[in-house]
Amino acid sequence: MARKQVIGNWKMHGSIGQIRSVLSEVSRAELGANVSVCVAYPYLGLAKTLLKDTAVQVGAQDVCEFHIGAYTGEVSAAMLADVGCELVIVGHSERRRYFGETSETAARKVRATLDAGLLPVYCVGETAEQRESGIAHQVIAEELQVLAGVPTSLYAVAYEPSWAVGTGVIATPEQIAEMHAFIKQTLDARTRVLYGGSVKASNTAQVLAVDGVDGVLVGGAALSASEFLEICRIAG
Ligand code: PGA
Repeated sequence: MARKQVIGNWKMHGSIGQIRSVLSEVSRAELGANVSVCVAYPYLGLAKTLLKDTAVQVGAQDVCEFHIGAYTGEVSAAMLADVGCELVIVGHSERRRYFGETSETAARKVRATLDAGLLPVYCVGETAEQRESGIAHQVIAEELQVLAGVPTSLYAVAYEPSWAVGTGVIATPEQIAEMHAFIKQTLDARTRVLYGGSVKASNTAQVLAVDGVDGVLVGGAALSASEFLEICRIAG
């Protein structure tokens, strides 16, 4: 199996102690640049320091849509690049659900991320209600419109059905295969598409074996060094 991408999304978890402990172990594991960790803003510098002798990349979980200026509390893509970030998660379902983020806002964030030379990992996914009412494809097609005109090589997409995020209920291989094919068909066959939502070491091999899955976006399981390293080992 070719090497697949693994992105750990720490969300609003962690402390200096926990990040030091987990990323010290990660730094000793001789991982490749296919592995990234996205910690909360205050710990990005610490993550870079801990991973400095490795190929592992560091990313942010969000970014400001504006480039510079009087935007109290915001963090720009240029700042993320300045502290050594290589990627940014954009449009995560938790941003959309709890902070009113729309695809229009996410589109500006994708552009800001690209302008700073970083890789946007753009998240799409339907809710349980949307899937049940048969509009999942329509929802995802609308979310993907944000990427129109952006060359495929400059971004990755994460398919994260929100009913699978943090719930322990992973999408079936059939659901994953079908939606990844739809995303690649809508954008470009070469688009890198990651799956996210209740990925653990115990189901990683099954997810990565699905046609059209180029990697995994891992939330809860990224907080444990042994679990995360096992996922990375399976990914190649
Ligand atoms: P989870 O989260 O692995 O805890 O389900 C995935 C994500 O939100 O990226």
